Amino acid sequence: MTSQDSAKTEEHPSAEDEVVRICQDLIGFDTSNYGDGSGPGERKAAEYVMGELTEVGLDPVLLESEPGRASVLVRIEGEDSERGGLAVHGHLDVVPANADDWQVDPFGAEIKDGCVWGRGAVDMKDMDAMILACVRELARSGRKPPRDLVIGFLADEEAGGVKGSHWLVDNHADQFEGVTEAISEVGGYSVTFDGKQGQQRAYLLQTAEKGIAWLRLRAHGRAGHGSVPNDDNAVVHLAQAIARINQHVWPREYIASVRQLLDGLSDLTGASYTDDELGPLLENLGGAKGFVEGTLRDTSNFTMLDAGYKHNVIPQSASASLDCRFLPGHEDDLMTTIRELAGEHVDVEVVHRDIALDAPFDAPLVEKMKSALLAEDPAAAVLPYCLSGGTDNKALKRLGITGYGFAPLQLPADLDFAPMFHGIDERVPLDSLRFGARVLGKFLADC
Ligand SMILES: [Zn+2]
Repeated sequence: MTSQDSAKTEEHPSAEDEVVRICQDLIGFDTSNYGDGSGPGERKAAEYVMGELTEVGLDPVLLESEPGRASVLVRIEGEDSERGGLAVHGHLDVVPANADDWQVDPFGAEIKDGCVWGRGAVDMKDMDAMILACVRELARSGRKPPRDLVIGFLADEEAGGVKGSHWLVDNHADQFEGVTEAISEVGGYSVTFDGKQGQQRAYLLQTAEKGIAWLRLRAHGRAGHGSVPNDDNAVVHLAQAIARINQHVWPREYIASVRQLLDGLSDLTGASYTDDELGPLLENLGGAKGFVEGTLRDTSNFTMLDAGYKHNVIPQSASASLDCRFLPGHEDDLMTTIRELAGEHVDVEVVHRDIALDAPFDAPLVEKMKSALLAEDPAAAVLPYCLSGGTDNKALKRLGITGYGFAPLQLPADLDFAPMFHGIDERVPLDSLRFGARVLGKFLADC
């Protein structure tokens, strides 16, 4: 498809017209994912998505990994099906919200101060709404995208995609046949800072993701009476292992996307940095600083402890949960280091692991993302970055699909966006959603 006029007609609303309403509708479905299977699941939201897609003549499928854990997929044929297809996907589940902490009902989807408020407003029912609105506009227009699109609304991302993306890849890989690239969440949003030429906006496009290693350290010792001296105490072995791992300083290493981000920020602001000392460079990113700080090295954080059952009984084992995140190419080194530091009395079990991703910034698809953004915001810069967390793109990589984070949002300079992921009072500006729908529409017309 070449450049086309907007599909907005007298009869039909455009993506920009519909995106806010769809975002509100999606937030209204409580799809909390507690990670233990106890939540309501995605089924109701998935049925809603099915309805919105079938209404415009598309033929989606709803696939359940188990009752209530629903994902929706639909393929849209492109002008040139010989080209590799593009997956455009979002997840329907959200992390839980404690309503008492919020200013508003987390599932009320209230509009207040120019924003839609609610759990999922930024992670990631905003992008789900943008995708759905753009696909509806495309289907109504009768135009074909340049290449095949596989649109996905997936379950269970917030628990590693075991019942969503990974299950789909294991059981319905045919749905992604011919797909070579993908876009999804946590990239394409703007940050604003003082640049050399005055206020400067930059969009952070996610090209890499750290890998995940959730480990359980299990210490073994000699059980016994709490009154008897014991030099083989599992609780002590565990505590020493925790202290050693916590004191370990993981070496800094700037992978290509991190280096390009730092160089880009340095160019735009005139602030210099060295490999050892970044200075105030990352302050320019506002809340997104945290995302980037997590990508300067591998990390290891203890999150849970479990030992003992009575005050006067020395237990024979004790365990701790450790959340490790590694840079692309670092998994083996990280595991070796953790095992060494854990020591002879402590076994290291892998509870959950997933790969790191590293996609090129110098790629035709990235150029398309850039031009869609710059068409709406010509003075902005676009920089790559690595995500410290993970997304469903890890699962799609198992099918050889190269994934990027591109959920375009132009954000007000004073909105501290990044901490809203999984945060309290999650909200997204209406203007940002409309901007995102325009950019995503342009991108899909030219992908
Ligand atoms: Zn997410």
